Amino acid sequence: MPIHDSRIRIDELADEGRDVRFGQDDAWALAAATEALEGEVSGLVAALHIERIAEVVRVSGRASASVVRGCDRCGGPVRLDLGGDVELLYEPTPHPALVEDRILDESELDIGFYDGRQLDLVDVLMEQLALWLPVRVRCTDPGVHQVGEAWTCALPDAEEGPDLTRQNPFANLRLPE
Ligand SMILES: [Zn+2]
Repeated sequence: MPIHDSRIRIDELADEGRDVRFGQDDAWALAAATEALEGEVSGLVAALHIERIAEVVRVSGRASASVVRGCDRCGGPVRLDLGGDVELLYEPTPHPALVEDRILDESELDIGFYDGRQLDLVDVLMEQLALWLPVRVRCTDPGVHQVGEAWTCALPDAEEGPDLTRQNPFANLRLPE
């Protein structure tokens, strides 16, 4: 069943949990995916199960999306297909005092946090897509497809580096003929 509100009330979650499906047609999901993937998103679909295990919320299932964005080397449009199993855990946000006293360091824990009452699927979707998105996206990487006719991935001439010879009075000293 499509959901129109991305926020799931955890304190009202049934014992058996809840199934949620969302995708391209849900405006909040498309906006979240577009922000996370920094490009034009298509084929976004997610089928997730949300359940509570004691204080921890488990989000599992599958999701996938494609994005068209610029190659990080040549700038040409490339398509990236992302997707797979989802397995995320969320704990209630620790009391600020625990973080302040360095008893807990959020950045060192491999777990997400929610406010204890509701979990926002915007955060879930953005986190999962960010985990799948490579740090760098280049034409030659596996799973990356050039859009349109193939071209040779190379740095554009104008962007190979600034031309320092005119601005730098010592350029000739450093680069003898
Ligand atoms: Zn490229």
